[in-house]
Amino acid sequence: MQRFRAAGGTHLFLATQNYEGTVPLSVDAYARQFEVTRRLADQSIEEAGVRAYPVVAPYPIDLIGATAQVGSPAALELYLSALDLAGEWVRQRKAVAIGEVGRPHFPVSEEVASVVEPAFRHALEVARDADCPVVVHSADLDARGLRELADLARSVGLRPERVVKHYTRTPVDPRQSGGVVPSYLARRDLVREVARTSGPWFLETDFLDDPKRPGAVLDLATIPRRASAIATDAGLGAESLWVPFVESIKKVYGWRPELSAEGAAL
Ligand SMILES: [Zn+2]
Repeated sequence: MQRFRAAGGTHLFLATQNYEGTVPLSVDAYARQFEVTRRLADQSIEEAGVRAYPVVAPYPIDLIGATAQVGSPAALELYLSALDLAGEWVRQRKAVAIGEVGRPHFPVSEEVASVVEPAFRHALEVARDADCPVVVHSADLDARGLRELADLARSVGLRPERVVKHYTRTPVDPRQSGGVVPSYLARRDLVREVARTSGPWFLETDFLDDPKRPGAVLDLATIPRRASAIATDAGLGAESLWVPFVESIKKVYGWRPELSAEGAAL
């Protein structure tokens, strides 16, 4: 976090993940997981002055491990309860969005596949009821895939503008996405390509802070570094940073990050 701050970073979204190396098999285990995320966010502001906004949900890939251990009906039941807990966290303002939810990005057994869709659908319902965005994990989607996602969201009554497709690696014309908002992996080439386009869109690193995968997927300080590069690029300039860092957050989340008079993150 200090490196992120030193590179100019002030705010970030912090998605929960399994910290214990095992798939949670109870709602209590998910509650413990979310609490760790919250503690990390508290630590981030206290120790580095970086405001981290927690994003919580049971990870869709958890359905695979849970199905193997307790069978798909019980795995689905647990998953739905954990989603309800995530919705509760948003209502209590302990988290700002539901995520990551969606679909495994690789083929799964028929048994798992049968619970993925009802699980995802309920995630969208929870976001609708908690009136918050949902951060979607899935295989890379093109414009057509994003439009299908928009249709799915609409079918449960969630505005597609509330749906963020995380880990997007294919630039999409914002007019072609059906309203779903791409969060682009901040590779240099991709950033250069999308920086000229109108929003909403986000940049992300998908940084894991896993000792077994150091620096994966991109280093945490990548976004502030890319932002500096955009700001000093003759063809782009600081003005173009409004799209990912202010306007898109306002449009998708309904609020905007602010700085205090001292420049510390609020
Ligand atoms: Zn993901």
